[in-house]
Amino acid sequence: MHEEETSYLGDGGDNSMRAKSTLRIVAWPVFLVCILVVGMPVNAAQTEIANDYVAIRFPDGLDVPREVQQLLLERITESICYLEGFLEYTFPRQIQYEYVESSFLSIGTFGLPNIVRDSLPVPIDTEDPNLHKPFNPHEIIHLVNHDVWQDCVIASMDEGFAWLVSYLYLEFPLHYEASCLLALGELPPLEFLLIEHHQGSRFKYRVSARGNLSFLGLLYEKFGHRAIIRLHKGLAEICGEGMVRDNVISLIEECTSTPLAELEHEWHSVLHATEVHPRYLAALLLHKEYDKADLLTLFHLCQYYNVEIDDPMFIAEVQSLESDIQNFVKDESLNEDDLRHRIQALREWATEMRRRMRGI
Ligand SMILES: [Zn+2]
Repeated sequence: MHEEETSYLGDGGDNSMRAKSTLRIVAWPVFLVCILVVGMPVNAAQTEIANDYVAIRFPDGLDVPREVQQLLLERITESICYLEGFLEYTFPRQIQYEYVESSFLSIGTFGLPNIVRDSLPVPIDTEDPNLHKPFNPHEIIHLVNHDVWQDCVIASMDEGFAWLVSYLYLEFPLHYEASCLLALGELPPLEFLLIEHHQGSRFKYRVSARGNLSFLGLLYEKFGHRAIIRLHKGLAEICGEGMVRDNVISLIEECTSTPLAELEHEWHSVLHATEVHPRYLAALLLHKEYDKADLLTLFHLCQYYNVEIDDPMFIAEVQSLESDIQNFVKDESLNEDDLRHRIQALREWATEMRRRMRGI
């Protein structure tokens, strides 16, 4: 069994971040980065290390040894070189990669022209394995997409390409989670998946990101790099006349010389052929339940009222529960029913907090 099959919720972040060897570690933070737009506590940078490609800045007061900075610079630069080569793109200017402190949630690029903000922990020890593995360039790929597509950014394609290119770089399996989603009946028809995006739901984001990752991965595997690049560049041209969905479908059919229905049939055949682990399926359903706690609305309310969540017990439980859901696949000491009860309790807790906040 691959590690990816035993490690859940390997999403995110965007996100997903330190190029770990398991989906579990990599994907979840990326996920947070991609969808949470809360609080941007940007601190003045105290230290910086740079080359022609990137300037990395660290939070004020954080003592990052120079050797660690150098290793991080090497890893990030390598990832930039890879994605520039893959996407046949050259950054017109140095990228600003800022590590920022965020008390709770991750933040991402959000259309800034050449700035990535990363709230994941900064490695501070040269022995940290993350410094000796490929760095996940997910957020940096968003910079390329936004520059190439300009006013024609389709969020689902933006995520799909960011996931695809980073997963190819990290050599992670492309189809595992989409196989699980299909097995659960959670994968929407392709004509919807290609253009639908849900900033308001972490689970729906997950479906969109992982689904499009897998489908674009199929196109890459079947039609090759040229077809993927044609599609990537072609997406910059489709926001003019006609429905965006029809234009995306036409572009894909043009790049592959294959009707969409045939592509979807072949894609599902690949997904059905992938053996999925029952605990992974259960973990996805736990995540779907957890999504109903609607923490995004709570955080948006915090922003609106300019207040912070003042209950450390709540924050601790959110962090603990997310960690346990994330570890559920591998850690068989974690019980599904226990997690369901905790999720239900957190949902009620979050509802009460939203109610109190609206009463301010
Ligand atoms: Zn992203």
